[in-house]
Amino acid sequence: MIRVSDITAYLKCPRMCYFLNNGHELIKEPNVDYVQRLLLKELALTYGSALMTGDTLSALNNELDRVSEEIRVIYRSELAGVDDSALANAASGVRNWLGDICPNLSYDFYALPCESDTALRSDKFGLAGSPDKLITIGDELVPSIIKAGSMPENGVWKSDRVQLTAYAILVEAIYNRVVTRGFVEYARWGTVREVTIKRHERRSVLQLRDRVRKIKEGFMPEKPRDAPCERCGFKGICDVKSTLASRFF
Ligand code: SF4
Repeated sequence: MIRVSDITAYLKCPRMCYFLNNGHELIKEPNVDYVQRLLLKELALTYGSALMTGDTLSALNNELDRVSEEIRVIYRSELAGVDDSALANAASGVRNWLGDICPNLSYDFYALPCESDTALRSDKFGLAGSPDKLITIGDELVPSIIKAGSMPENGVWKSDRVQLTAYAILVEAIYNRVVTRGFVEYARWGTVREVTIKRHERRSVLQLRDRVRKIKEGFMPEKPRDAPCERCGFKGICDVKSTLASRFF
């Protein structure tokens, strides 16, 4: 079974996908940027309920206090090397963004009924994963993902589009209905962008699934020229020579 997260790892770097599938743990340096992303991701799950209170800024400040208290329970290993003052410093940075986030939050979007973290699995397609939300709009089921990183000037990042397309394929397989769109919630700005699910990306998801399957069978892909090695937690083990077979992969 290929997970949608395997496909997103492949898009970052195929070798990263190889290491993750061969028992290596990705060590991320817990710098302030990383901790802020974790806090934002959790906080974004409360944007809807904060909006409904009528005083969004106060509600998000309270939620941020709660999230700061509870975040270690959710991200135990990721935050193991982060002391309390570093966590407080990261939370203070997030607090400074709340004034920019609040005016962008859309009542129409956050009032839509949704389920969080619905586990989706299709034996037929050999694919599984959990979108952050599955939103109901009339007869439609629309996957939505929360991203705590940067937001492109227009549209969404390619990896976000592919991830949503993979969830769309899963929703269609399980609920037997057509999915024409998805959403990306860029948490740092409180901005939601709609994505049309396109045919060529459906094809891409199936091709990527097949490539990940080969990696799971033991093929090590070549190092891509534009791989993000500088920031990669695998760079210490990534000088492994590729096999002859992988060159034809
Ligand atoms: S070190 Fe570079 S090539 Fe190796 S897994 Fe990381 S990003 Fe990919």
